[in-house]
Amino acid sequence: MVKARCFNFKLIMNSVDDIKKLVETKFACVQVAPSIKTALGEAFGMPTGEWVGGRLVAALHQLGFKRVFETDFGAEVRIMEEAAELKERLEKNDRLPMFTSCCPSWVGICVKMYPDILPYLSTCKSPMEMVSSLAKDYLVYERKFGDVSISSIMPCYAKKMEVKEGHTDGVLTAMELVGWMKASGVNLADLKNGFFDAPFGMSSSAGTIYASTGGVAEATLRTFSALYGGWCPGMHLYREEIIADGVREVKLKCGEYRLKVALVEGPSGISNFCKAFREGKNRDYHMVEMMNCHGGCVGGNGMPNAGKDEFIQKRIGALRKHDDNAVLTSAHENPLVKELYKNYLGKPYGAKAKKILHIDDFNAVFG
Ligand code: SF4
Repeated sequence: MVKARCFNFKLIMNSVDDIKKLVETKFACVQVAPSIKTALGEAFGMPTGEWVGGRLVAALHQLGFKRVFETDFGAEVRIMEEAAELKERLEKNDRLPMFTSCCPSWVGICVKMYPDILPYLSTCKSPMEMVSSLAKDYLVYERKFGDVSISSIMPCYAKKMEVKEGHTDGVLTAMELVGWMKASGVNLADLKNGFFDAPFGMSSSAGTIYASTGGVAEATLRTFSALYGGWCPGMHLYREEIIADGVREVKLKCGEYRLKVALVEGPSGISNFCKAFREGKNRDYHMVEMMNCHGGCVGGNGMPNAGKDEFIQKRIGALRKHDDNAVLTSAHENPLVKELYKNYLGKPYGAKAKKILHIDDFNAVFG
């Protein structure tokens, strides 16, 4: 029997008071997950799915943060890395299918219950850790920003585990931020839109759709298709087939590649897929997206109205609308992502990118 292990959240900077101290003493930066922008308005009487990213920037500046970044940008760097990683694994027929690793709950489950699957995980850091690693390496050493701290506003408590990686200084859930805002008299509904800050404050819609199930794989495969397989349309134009509870399947052709992708969500989906994998089934997939929450991050346990499906579905609708209306829909089109690779990182999945943006040992963080 596998024993449940509790992570000691007290080891890390988690409370509003901890983050306030960072704001008072450091060059305090903060990043906001894409899912938050569809949901935070609910806590201030605004309609579900109303896009509040700009107002949230204004609120975080009022609370004292000097720079407000988008985690969507980190998702787009991760997309560049994961697409290149997938290409290399396909070419070498190495550790396929490649499982995503952006959901810390899934990675924690994998470490504790399915360690035999760990080698199949993408080694990319999560979008949050991508931004935090870049904030520490790029802002401090390249741009001489001084004593930088980077905090994160995230949809779930599990993201707090990632602080052990050593780059993010503190994580608050959406509802913890709401408590801080209300105690400080900051009402989101009264604020005008602000703008996310450079150099991690611009994203295409690919980084944004990361916030719902299917979006992670779709965003990665848009860039994979364009850079390595010739163009193919977005995955949501393809028919998804339900395979089991919490498991859907998509097949698509990207140039010479014919890919079979599984979209897995929720504890039952993870359990169904992993048990079958251990029995030698599900081995013909090329990529597997794993999200522990129904609906993906828009269904996180630190969000307003947590666990209520009607709210989750409206947030997913808002993400899709945002994607439909976006001018840029793929990570490799983002000018700031291009600049980062050209001037700093070099090749996606190259030596420097691997050093800064990939994880060596999941056990050290999630074990
Ligand atoms: Fe957190 Fe859920 Fe998103 Fe996983 S799917 S990162 S548990 S909100």
